[in-house]
Amino acid sequence: MRTLQNSVAADRVGHAYLFCGPRGTGKTTSARLLAKAVNCLHEDVGQRPCDECRICQAVATGRFLDLIEIDAASNTGVDDIRDLRDKINFAPSDGRFKVYIIDEVHMLSTAAFNALLKTLEEPPPHVKFVLATTEEHKVPITIKSRCQQFNFRLLTEAEIIARLQWLAAQEAFTMEPEALTMIARQGAGSLRDAESLLDQLVMAPDDVITAERAQNVLGVASHTAVMSLVNAWLNRDGAAGLGIIHQALGTGTDARQFCRQMVAYLRQLLLLQAAGAEIPLEATAEEKIEMLAQAQRAPRQGLIEAVKRFNEAALMPSSSWQPQLPLELAFIELLPPEPAAAVPAPLAAAPRPQAEPAPEPVVAQTVVAAAPTNAMAPPPKAAALTLALIQSHWREMVNRAGQENKNLPALLNMGKPLAVEGHTAVIGFDYPIFKMKFDDTRGAAQLLADILGELMGQPCGIRAVNTSDYTIPVDKKDFEALANEFGGVVSED
Ligand SMILES: [Zn+2]
Repeated sequence: MRTLQNSVAADRVGHAYLFCGPRGTGKTTSARLLAKAVNCLHEDVGQRPCDECRICQAVATGRFLDLIEIDAASNTGVDDIRDLRDKINFAPSDGRFKVYIIDEVHMLSTAAFNALLKTLEEPPPHVKFVLATTEEHKVPITIKSRCQQFNFRLLTEAEIIARLQWLAAQEAFTMEPEALTMIARQGAGSLRDAESLLDQLVMAPDDVITAERAQNVLGVASHTAVMSLVNAWLNRDGAAGLGIIHQALGTGTDARQFCRQMVAYLRQLLLLQAAGAEIPLEATAEEKIEMLAQAQRAPRQGLIEAVKRFNEAALMPSSSWQPQLPLELAFIELLPPEPAAAVPAPLAAAPRPQAEPAPEPVVAQTVVAAAPTNAMAPPPKAAALTLALIQSHWREMVNRAGQENKNLPALLNMGKPLAVEGHTAVIGFDYPIFKMKFDDTRGAAQLLADILGELMGQPCGIRAVNTSDYTIPVDKKDFEALANEFGGVVSED
């Protein structure tokens, strides 16, 4: 925009511009600004547009007769272009220049394009054109070559936050940081959208915009709801997922909005998978850990499928009588056909991005086939605890743990059964941070020990280790003694 202002100041405004960029990036606003600038009555060219003179005011209130806006996406586009060609030679009625803004110019018919091209080739000196498009590649090269092109881009979340903070300071209201982030995220890179959302939220001068109000007014699902729904999907827990959806909608979340947030979130998981933890994420440190865990757990193909489903759901026209239906269907369709807990089939047979694969049931069964015991049946009381046995019950253990503590499955999926030390199952984590998180989760080890004990029909212990630090024990008896001494739950020293 600086370039445009400079050309106004230097009185070197071209006769045709092409503004390219996604919607909401300020193309039309800039075009109107240009209309003001070239017609402004301020004596000092450097001060144009002044926003105070008769012309500037007329443009601002949509009453300036020499600003003609044509929406090529509407049915009247062709007629308007014909009209343009008929009237273009008349002098401006009020200002120095007639300014034609043709929005979504790529939508013009070939006939209309040809008509436009004629006028662009020999424009009357009193005319300026601003062609705007969201799809630059559809604008014929013959048109492009006659325009000076400006590209508009979406802003980053940080840029929008900075802008909103500035606005808040100007207007003397305060925003809770979470509310600020919510609005910026909602804007999805469009400053215009973010600003109009802000308008909806400010109710009085000296207002404090709380996260709660932002959530209610914007119909935004909380980050927790989005994250939990992804967990429910990964756990194949239909009931939990629908519960999350209904609770969110019950507290004012808009169903399509929820879908859009799912798309944005799942996309970040995909990026995490593809690029690893280094990619910049717009999330807190806590959220990042959880997202990383989910990214490693989710099969890539499944993720892609999920993005598609929620995207389709977001685009579906919302029916007034069942607005939540597309969201529910998208979620349910992503679940495997069989009941969740009983069928530990992988979501999709996609290669895992990093580290070693968590023990998928397929792996477990291979091990089981080689082992002498039938691991799938409840073992006889006090049968020796083996790694194969634990592996074959791992999935069920994770599911049961999730019923007690919904955060555990994500965490446990970052680990895997590594070895057996007497009556204690050793869980190895590839990343120390997850082992730490496990150790810090109160009651987690005891809960798992209890579940495992129930599954195995004997008292069991659990301990977490860093996979890379751990050497699989040779002499089991020593560890058995150790396990007994610590009453089943052995924490790492
Ligand atoms: Zn002015």
